[in-house]
Amino acid sequence: MHLPEAPRSLWLDQCAPYVPNPPLQEDVRVDVAIIGGGFTGLVTAYELKRAEPGLRVAVLEAREVGYGSSGRNGSFAMTVVGLGFSATASLRGRDFVRRAYTYMAQAVDRLDELITRERLECDRIRPGFLRVATTRPYAKRLRREVDLMHSLGFDDFYWLDAEAARARVDSPRHLGAVWEPRLVLVNPAKLVRAEKDLAMRTGAAVYENTPVLEITSRPTFFLTTPQGTVQAEKLVFATNAYSDLFAQLRRKQAVGFTYMIATEPLAPEALRPIGWHGREGVEDARNLIHHYRLTPDNRITMGGGPVGVTYANHLDGDASPAAWLHLEQHLRFLFPSLRSVRVTHRWGGPFSVTLNLTPALGYLGDERAVYSLGCIGHGVSMSHMNAGVLRDLVLGHQAEARECPFFSEPLRWPPEPLRIAAAAAMRGWLQLEDWSRERELRRLA
Ligand SMILES: Cc1cc2nc3c(=O)[nH]c(=O)nc-3n(C[C@H](O)[C@H](O)[C@H](O)COP(=O)(O)OP(=O)(O)OC[C@H]3O[C@@H](n4cnc5c(N)ncnc54)[C@H](O)[C@@H]3O)c2cc1C
Repeated sequence: MHLPEAPRSLWLDQCAPYVPNPPLQEDVRVDVAIIGGGFTGLVTAYELKRAEPGLRVAVLEAREVGYGSSGRNGSFAMTVVGLGFSATASLRGRDFVRRAYTYMAQAVDRLDELITRERLECDRIRPGFLRVATTRPYAKRLRREVDLMHSLGFDDFYWLDAEAARARVDSPRHLGAVWEPRLVLVNPAKLVRAEKDLAMRTGAAVYENTPVLEITSRPTFFLTTPQGTVQAEKLVFATNAYSDLFAQLRRKQAVGFTYMIATEPLAPEALRPIGWHGREGVEDARNLIHHYRLTPDNRITMGGGPVGVTYANHLDGDASPAAWLHLEQHLRFLFPSLRSVRVTHRWGGPFSVTLNLTPALGYLGDERAVYSLGCIGHGVSMSHMNAGVLRDLVLGHQAEARECPFFSEPLRWPPEPLRIAAAAAMRGWLQLEDWSRERELRRLA
């Protein structure tokens, strides 16, 4: 099994020097083995030990914790699901959106509580979320989103006109915005590493540089790693976009790649024309969104835009000079006064997507193995909430777990070459919609 070297994220670069735990070098027996040391795996370990301190729990991570998306994401812990609430309502219905938003609002609040309760050092702030419109069709789209949420009884969405939006973050491209107070921003790499310590404090074992190479069931699970084996009664797949490495999960999700850049720290005079005193997290209203924020040291991170897909879900799509160039150009388009700002970090990573663009978790085969995948680019808060559901599934508390709107068996992706064709067609359709909503920008150019 080979997981590629990935360009290093700003967040990992800003962590303290790191010493990974030693790999597994013996044969061990546990009650629950968790594959994957990202948010999902580590928080599931913590939740299990909190619920049943006597359980023997081990997390097996192929590289270092946070190697996956958890150490590389945009850092937005938000309530958004799929391609937004209106698109999700079209795909899954209004009742699903009602349940999904309720779940996601709790996800953001619980993550915030976890960080505070357990004193996880991760540069957390709770500055609120702006979803900005950069064209009139996007403004219309966002207003529909506000109307939908109000009609479902959720009031925490406020339409801001251009002046009010620009009073917060001043870009000449911001024509209006939805303001949602509920958003947590973190340094995700610091968070995931703090969660490793937390899992260990509760008594879980965490092995790093320990890829699971083979799994058999005889009748307990038997996991082979390069230097040791694990016998486990129960198994948690917390492998997100890397789930493709396991035949059992292969058709449940596909892998997409998304990219980010970060600027050098901005001097106060460079920041002045933009305002941004509230340090809000900002996302636009495209299908293939852009998202941007200010870091504690006043860099701007910008992510999203072009999405990569690879044949047979190969995991070698972490770098894309074309996507990085797009992000850099978009930064200067939004904030013309920053034309000479230097970009210091460029990175990317995989996300997991199901055929209906909504997350899925549940049992795999019999009730001894569970999985969670398909968070797309919205897994920061969601993975933490999902960890509680995985705990319930492992402990056999099915009634609680079934409350989760994402407890479902995802539709299966077709085999190659149909899968890559379907993924490219889906991406093409999303791009086409964005292109048509951006006509007035092209007239400006
Ligand atoms: C660039 C980028 C930006 C994003 N921005 C946002 C955002 O702003 N907000 C948001 O909500 N979401 C965002 N996401 C998505 C979010 O980061 C993920 O949904 C979330 O981190 C998933 O966490 P996880 O623990 O499930 O998976 P991961 O963090 O990917 O962890 C899976 C782990 O499994 C390990 N693994 C895989 N195979 C094996 C094996 N065989 N043996 C042992 N270990 C294995 C991997 O090494 C990896 O560490 C973004 C994603 C990317 C890539």
